[in-house]
Amino acid sequence: MSKANLIDPFGRQVEYLRLSVTDRCDLRCAYCIPEGFKGFEEPADWLSFDEIERVIRLFAQMGLKRVRLTGGEPLLRRNITDLTRRLAALPGIEDLSLSTNATQLARHAPALKASGITRLNVSLDSLDPQQMIRIAGRDALANILAGLETARQTGFAPIKINMVVMQENVDAIDGMVDYCMERGFVLRLIELMPMGETARRLGYVDLQPIKARLQQNFSLIDTVMQGGGPARYLGTPDGHFNVGFITPMSQHFCATCNRVRLTVDGVLHLCLGQEDHIELRPLLRAGASDDDLVQALLDSIARKPERHEFREQPAKTIRFMNATGG
Ligand code: SAM
Repeated sequence: MSKANLIDPFGRQVEYLRLSVTDRCDLRCAYCIPEGFKGFEEPADWLSFDEIERVIRLFAQMGLKRVRLTGGEPLLRRNITDLTRRLAALPGIEDLSLSTNATQLARHAPALKASGITRLNVSLDSLDPQQMIRIAGRDALANILAGLETARQTGFAPIKINMVVMQENVDAIDGMVDYCMERGFVLRLIELMPMGETARRLGYVDLQPIKARLQQNFSLIDTVMQGGGPARYLGTPDGHFNVGFITPMSQHFCATCNRVRLTVDGVLHLCLGQEDHIELRPLLRAGASDDDLVQALLDSIARKPERHEFREQPAKTIRFMNATGG
């Protein structure tokens, strides 16, 4: 099977899959899963570990190299390290990473590392307990910080901290810079995307002026981070600290998009901000052969949209982030 198969109509080589292993979460970040949200997938529709492994194995035979587990909160999926161990062992998968809210990371970090997870991204929008309750709907900060500390002691490096910037927490940025600098964490500031009505209502904060201010106040220089994805980075001249800016709104990065997303119920989304998708679960459960599945994957890559239209058509994306997999 040739790698060229995973090249989309715009010449982009798809080599990265975001794998949502659950759409459930123990937090209720207003911009992601609004309080009272009821539209979760039924367990009977969740892809089994066998089904997930089969899809990733076929993808990897066509050139997929990197998989990130996400959700919802991936650590809520029972026996998650059984899955990560199986995925880490697949030929062609060079990088297996995980995004987590870290509320349960203290318990899971050593087993995750032993199972083949190489890199961790942790979401954290504030270091102020009251502000965190307002943003995440739960009093979880102490558990998150404990999880981060255990992950650091377990030897995960670098650990990236993802902070979605809104009016609510724009004042928390400098404190996050200090916190991450002290611990050697990479900080990534993210512009809020209009996924679902609540995120749209909250609105995004343009990171460009914030980037200029941090550069000056913390004497940072332009840097490049290996495997840094779409983020643009500033860092200290000694390389000890880096801060990335993920700017889907003020400066989108679709021209280099190399990823697709698989939901817990087996829907392959080809763009975060567009509806183009294929449903793999019916194929998997109707006894499709490997050749049938490979053809379906190839057909889907051939339909990958050029770009999202978050700015031109902000009301277009009705899926919440927990459903698609962040
Ligand atoms: N539960 C895990 C976590 O907290 O990292 C993984 C899933 S979460 C959906 C992944 C990331 O998506 C988080 O950093 C979250 O802040 C971000 N996110 C969710 N909704 C978003 C939105 N509308 N715009 C930008 N980022 C969003």
